[in-house]
Amino acid sequence: MQKNDIFEIEIIDMGVGGEGIGKHDGMTFFIKDAVMGDVVEAKVTKLKKNYGYARVEKIIKPSSDRVELECSIAKKCGGCQIQQVSYQRQLKFKEDKVINNLKRIGNFSDEEISKVIEPVVGMEEPFRYRNKAQYPVGLDKEGKIVTGFYAQRTHSIIPIENNDCKLGTPENARILDLIKEYMQENSVKPYDEVKKKGLVRHILIRKGFDTNQIMVCIIINGNKLPHSEKLIEKLETVEGITSISININKENTNVILGKETVVLWGEPYIKDYITLNNVKRDEQGNISFEKTDTKVGYQISAQSFFQVNPQQTEKLYSLALDYAGLKGEESVWDLYCGIGTISLFLANKAKNVYGVEIVEQAIEDAKRNAKLNNIENSKFFVGKAEDIISEFYKTNAIDKSAQDKMQGKKESVETTVEESVETKAEVSVDAQMMKPDVIVVDPPRKGCDNLCLDTMLKMAPPKIVYVSCDSATLARDLRYLCDGGYELKKVCPVDQFAQTTHVETVVGLQRVNY
Ligand code: SAH
Repeated sequence: MQKNDIFEIEIIDMGVGGEGIGKHDGMTFFIKDAVMGDVVEAKVTKLKKNYGYARVEKIIKPSSDRVELECSIAKKCGGCQIQQVSYQRQLKFKEDKVINNLKRIGNFSDEEISKVIEPVVGMEEPFRYRNKAQYPVGLDKEGKIVTGFYAQRTHSIIPIENNDCKLGTPENARILDLIKEYMQENSVKPYDEVKKKGLVRHILIRKGFDTNQIMVCIIINGNKLPHSEKLIEKLETVEGITSISININKENTNVILGKETVVLWGEPYIKDYITLNNVKRDEQGNISFEKTDTKVGYQISAQSFFQVNPQQTEKLYSLALDYAGLKGEESVWDLYCGIGTISLFLANKAKNVYGVEIVEQAIEDAKRNAKLNNIENSKFFVGKAEDIISEFYKTNAIDKSAQDKMQGKKESVETTVEESVETKAEVSVDAQMMKPDVIVVDPPRKGCDNLCLDTMLKMAPPKIVYVSCDSATLARDLRYLCDGGYELKKVCPVDQFAQTTHVETVVGLQRVNY
């Protein structure tokens, strides 16, 4: 076979990136935008020894799992990789992805997995779920201002039809139109990445789904937005607008936000709430969620990390809490806590919660959010999770009595903590801190550091809850924890990112023979 050859192929599998997989002439082909079950005419784009890549030329027989695209640029835009796949099939794909990684990377047997896996938690309406969007701003070939998304693996902007991305909220389109209008009327230029000239780089829009508060932040390559009062005048007309700011980013970088944000109008943050749900299971093990009266409020600034799908986050955290099985007397660590989203959820049901997070700003947010919710049983530490818990552990051998720890070692612990957090932490290390009942971890994609896992094993809490956004590193870490004396109790994939190949997973582990 040669490049540009056209051939007919049946799609028999789906790859990790959502691409269709089929066999032809003894070779495996990966075919973008093809759906499992399709028969397509494909054109070879790249050939290797035993495999190749191809693209769909014509669909000969569509799969029963193929659906109409909701968005006209879905194939070009890097955002939705599997919009052409029915939502039920997307969910199955995500469940399979988690199971395969547990088998392949985690070395767990089919039998072990089938005992613990819960049905994937999907969305009722798998569009318009994102509370945050970041649009790059540029010029098209005719010199018109465009906002859109980057094409897959590139930095060329694809304009969105009517500015309306189907994953975002409907207000985004109007806001983008108003900003473009303001830019045109006031000769404000978009930033050109190549020439490194121009002003407006990105537009960040965030909405509180519970409060309907909206934040708009314009990221600029400069210190000031000219005639900003004209922009404010326009944006003020959007219902819900609460915060308008600029963020200064003069670096030559791919990182969207710079360090400094200046409020132009309104508040420096928006507020949103996440409601705790009771998790119910029927006889077949199907999960349903029942909202409770417990709500946690969060102030979210432009720079803070906040989960982008609040509806599913509520379910994810409620499951994490369900797996933690708290009764009110427990001490809990929440490692990789961000702005304390899970910590404050846990604090409602535990005696004490200790959060650890590497970003100082996030910990400031966490502390403020604790106050906002009148939560007094949480403490937060800035630093790497692996450093903070291992330092605490080293200076607090848990086989000594609580008294010893509190008095004899307190001084050295305080020094260690101060060094690692670089702020004056009001730490009194209590016995419970080093003998927690539950450790919750929610690390970034690369998973937990070995030192973190080792220290968790030494601290030996009866329960560990692992929330993960990458099922491969999750499987690796679960194997480590299980080899160290834990067993899987429950595993649940949760769809936080419908139309994409990403899957979030929550896992409950228990110490063996506990
Ligand atoms: N649990 C939070 C945040 C999860 S995202 C929530 O649900 O909102 C993962 C977080 O881990 C990020 O906030 C990131 O800044 C933080 N992080 C990354 N590496 C870390 C490390 N080594 N130690 C502690 N926190 C870390």
